[in-house]
Amino acid sequence: MPRTSTCAICSWATIAPLPPDNVFNTLMNPTPTPVTEPAAPTLCQPCAGIQPNWRRTPGHAELVQKNNRKAQGKRGLITITRYACDHCGAVWDYANDKADPHAGWSLVGFVNAA
Ligand SMILES: [Zn+2]
Repeated sequence: MPRTSTCAICSWATIAPLPPDNVFNTLMNPTPTPVTEPAAPTLCQPCAGIQPNWRRTPGHAELVQKNNRKAQGKRGLITITRYACDHCGAVWDYANDKADPHAGWSLVGFVNAA
C-alpha cells in the first residue's frame, strides 16, 4: 500500500505549480498596445543628410535661419540658432557649443506638425 503522506493542499500545489517567470511577467505586465504614431512628416533628402549632435557639420542650402537664442552650454552661454527647412518643414536647432563636441544639429520638429 503506497504511502499517502501528501495532504490535499500539497498535492494541489504539485498539480498546479506557479507559472514560470516569463508567463508571470507577461500576466503582470501585459505588452502595451502599440501607439500608432501620427503620420510623421519625413525629412527631405538634404535634411536626412544632416548629422545630428555633431558640431561643425553643415546644414544645407534650403535651411532658412530663424531666431537666435542663448542657452546654457557645457561652459557658459552658447548660441542656439533655429533653422527651418523650406523643403520639408523640418525645424532644426544648431547649438554652437565649443565645449561640447556633441552639440550641433538637433531636430526640433516640423513646422506643419506644430
Ligand atoms: Zn528638409
